[in-house]
Amino acid sequence: MHKTIKISDKFSLILHKIYRMNDKINNRMDVTILGIESSCDDTSAAVLKNGVLLSNIIANQKIHEAYGGVVPELASRAHQQNIIPVIHAALKQAGINKEDLSAIAFTRGPGLLGSLLVGTSFSKGFSTALNIPMVEVNHLQAHVLAHFIKQNESDANHPSFPFLCLLVSGGNSQIILVRAYNDMEVVGQTIDDAAGEAFDKCAKVMGLPYPGGPVVDRLAKEGNPKAFKLNKPQIPDYNYSFSGLKTSFLYLLRDELKKNPHFIEENKADLCASLQYTIIEILMDKLRKAAKDLKIKEVAVAGGVSANSGLRTAFEEHAQKYHWKIYIPPFAFTTDNAAMVAMSGHFKYLNNDFCPMDAVPFSKVVV
Ligand code: ADP
Ligand code: MG
Repeated sequence: MHKTIKISDKFSLILHKIYRMNDKINNRMDVTILGIESSCDDTSAAVLKNGVLLSNIIANQKIHEAYGGVVPELASRAHQQNIIPVIHAALKQAGINKEDLSAIAFTRGPGLLGSLLVGTSFSKGFSTALNIPMVEVNHLQAHVLAHFIKQNESDANHPSFPFLCLLVSGGNSQIILVRAYNDMEVVGQTIDDAAGEAFDKCAKVMGLPYPGGPVVDRLAKEGNPKAFKLNKPQIPDYNYSFSGLKTSFLYLLRDELKKNPHFIEENKADLCASLQYTIIEILMDKLRKAAKDLKIKEVAVAGGVSANSGLRTAFEEHAQKYHWKIYIPPFAFTTDNAAMVAMSGHFKYLNNDFCPMDAVPFSKVVV
């Protein structure tokens, strides 16, 4: 059935009926989705049954630390080694037989092509072997939909539509207007670096390990956020820019190191606190503007940088001051994980939005 080269809409409908017949024959009443994430340097697999999380296994790749950033070729090789044990562990922890799966959801992009290929190819093979549909997932939409993962049967805490989602990660900084599960509009985005990148690059010039975001967060707790004044961009609309901040941080270090070679060591906490404070100010200024203009009070945050304690506090302060209803994901769903991919796949599965066998990964951003 899956051997078809190109599947037209009509054919997709027939395919869907066959899959549903299959479900009936196999007595599959539940919607059980296996999610696979392999867009960057985390190999992850998760199982979601009727939207409730049963397992979420993540294999981090330590190999990149020595290089101060993700090395694409090494990432894709590590995915190849990790993918089968990770999926095996996810199914085992969930207590699910592979025959019970309704569909396989995989991240098709954006991300590193070599990494995405591993998840995509595995999904094709597995869905053919099990005779179940594949669902392609946009990594960025998955970060947003992480808010709908149910931790247990009675978990009903999720944003109501429409809501705004600040998506801040190592590769993206966007303000997304979410009208429905499958209707998202990017109303603002970075024109250069991402917020996570700003954390990581500035941490790198201070000699901190990769990824720098969590280290800056930890050190910032001991520092004075007003100790150093850093550049904030003046760009229109709801867009972001972090390259000016990065340059001003670099120049500050360069100038001060000339006067005192121990400047970084002696001021590490203040530097981290000032950097974090400025990044959060930049993020919140535009988010506040968007929320005001669009008259939206439901505001969520997603992506790796949403783990930042300062950003979480800023959200709480905004909730108080501007009467926002805020949604901050549990820590495990902030960085890359397959639970969010399975969640996105769940909604698409219910919409019969299946993916053909000739689907190829994409590297660039599209929401
Ligand atoms: P991507 O998918 O774009 O690679 P992730 O969603 O995996 O990004 O997030 C990784 C990014 O999140 C990194 O840039 C990392 O430094 C940043 N990050 C993680 N934890 C924190 C934190 N506590 N404070 C600031 N940044 C953080
Ligand atoms: Mg991500």
